[in-house]
Amino acid sequence: MSRTEPRAALHPRPVLAKGPYRPEPEATSGERVIPGIPVSEGVAIGPVFGASEPNAEIAPRRIAAVEVEAEIGRLEAAVLQSRRQLGKLRARLVVLPEEAQSEIAPLIDAYVRMIGPSRLTRGIRRRIAEGLQSAETAVVGECEAIAGQIIAASPDQMGEEDRASRDRRAEEVREIGRRLVRNLTRQPFRSFAHLPPGAVLVSEALRPADAALIDPSRLAGVAADEGGPDGHTAIMLRALGVPAVLGAIGLSQAARSGDVAVVDGAAGRVVLNPTEETLAGARRQVAAFARARQKLARLRRLPAATEDGQVIELQANLEIPAELPLIAQAGAVGIGLLRSEFLFMNRETIPDETAQAETYRAVIEAMEGDPVTIRVLDWGGEKEIDALVSAGLVPELSDTNPALSLRGIRLLLRRPELFEAQLAAILRAGVAGPVRVLLPMVTCVAEVRAARETFERVVRRLRRRNERLPDPLPAIGIMVETPGAALSADALALEADFFAIGTNDLAMYTLAVDRSESSVAHLYDPLHPAVLRLVQFATEAALRLRKPVSVCGEMASNPKLTPLLLGLGLRSFSMNASAVPRVKQAVRGLATDSCARFARRVMEQSDPERIGELVAEFGTAG
Ligand code: PEP
Ligand code: MG
Repeated sequence: MSRTEPRAALHPRPVLAKGPYRPEPEATSGERVIPGIPVSEGVAIGPVFGASEPNAEIAPRRIAAVEVEAEIGRLEAAVLQSRRQLGKLRARLVVLPEEAQSEIAPLIDAYVRMIGPSRLTRGIRRRIAEGLQSAETAVVGECEAIAGQIIAASPDQMGEEDRASRDRRAEEVREIGRRLVRNLTRQPFRSFAHLPPGAVLVSEALRPADAALIDPSRLAGVAADEGGPDGHTAIMLRALGVPAVLGAIGLSQAARSGDVAVVDGAAGRVVLNPTEETLAGARRQVAAFARARQKLARLRRLPAATEDGQVIELQANLEIPAELPLIAQAGAVGIGLLRSEFLFMNRETIPDETAQAETYRAVIEAMEGDPVTIRVLDWGGEKEIDALVSAGLVPELSDTNPALSLRGIRLLLRRPELFEAQLAAILRAGVAGPVRVLLPMVTCVAEVRAARETFERVVRRLRRRNERLPDPLPAIGIMVETPGAALSADALALEADFFAIGTNDLAMYTLAVDRSESSVAHLYDPLHPAVLRLVQFATEAALRLRKPVSVCGEMASNPKLTPLLLGLGLRSFSMNASAVPRVKQAVRGLATDSCARFARRVMEQSDPERIGELVAEFGTAG
């Protein structure tokens, strides 16, 4: 039972007007440099758009008595998630200077206290159980009531300072309410609807699904407290060509909407309120970057061939259709990795077979005969897909270990209806041009066999339906992105038609380092000999059986690593479109025999740091 009531908001002021609450009067002043992880090159200068302010508007809703238990359960989950988020924020503060810590930590502690056993949470529960209000309604109602009491209880005659402190306490209650509502409604932490053109987006955390909503033409740069170098958010930002710094701890608390910020995506730092001198330097960098990009663009029509005439395949990774024009501009020859999960994000329902087929067909047609490798759905990792949760197909990411549970092919084999619809869509779209199917997160031969059986079943079904099918049928390859797959590459090469080496996950799983976690970013090193040995083993296994093998992880987009990868025998790479010209330039200046000698030297090393030095030296020598 529900009844319509006027919409309520936790805060009357316009939503998304500014970042998280900080005492009002004092504007940030003086240059402040916040270091972070460089994830997408280029320099951006613009006003801060603090994206932490949620849209906390909700329609008040009544519930039936039988729903009380479920509603309390939702509240508990939202409280738990809020506590996790705040705990994460708090833990990160240790790397900040003491002064900054003592500014931010008490605020986070106050939030944590409020969602502990507190007057606030007791009041919310009472509103649900006795007032039969939905959890969101109860949160908004209770927070507004407490904030109102704080304001009302203060004496009429009070000084400026007391008034500011009173307003701050009331605002803290509203802020924690907004966090709870966000977690209850599963709203992303931000909306980009009010993003002013040329702004620098500053956020506590940016999910891949949020990054997929960014319009690069409207945005100067992005910076966030959380995130790692090769997480999917970083990958999306690179793909969109937006200068970005992640893992800039303390940034979202330090920045205020309207502050001027410089995001240096090469050096990995954010400067708030830059001095005139810093600004002038940043402007010079912006101009230099634009010139370098223009120069690289001239390579577009030149072949990607080494000095000794070996033609190297340079393809693009595609995350969202908005990148399609960039692929043609970059001179990539086809798509080596279409991450299809982005088709399933930011929507309420799962796209059906026909909707998927139309999207794939549009991409294939846009490639005008160049091959397209479509990776089937890779749910898991940090890729949240609400539509799958709503359909009851997967648990909430926070209720599972998303890196080690039903990720990738495991989910598809468990949910054949999902897999079959996607395979059917690819097959139908495949009449428009050359297409291949790529299986994510494979760890054993049985998975490839089972996937092939499903594929053949779908082919038979489509034939019965008299659908036109591609001839020949698409090849079925696998991502080699777990140590298990890499070490069984000789067996897997007998089953799979091709390999795509996913160095992002391969590094993560080999080194046990979360690729999107800033606190362990310094340990995430694809040049670790363990990772390189797995790449080598998998490459050689494929080459022995004459199976095509490519690298589609972020290693492929780093021109400094091109000599090493060529030296290991690789001849095909797929990367974010904007990296193609740089890698092509590197390829054109290399000879494969000297790369092979260099790779042999590298593979003798046991120290990742030494390998890093050798790579840097080769880069300068070459
Ligand atoms: C990889 O793991 O290297 C890869 C290319 O896949 P994703 O980044 O989508 O996990
Ligand atoms: Mg992967």
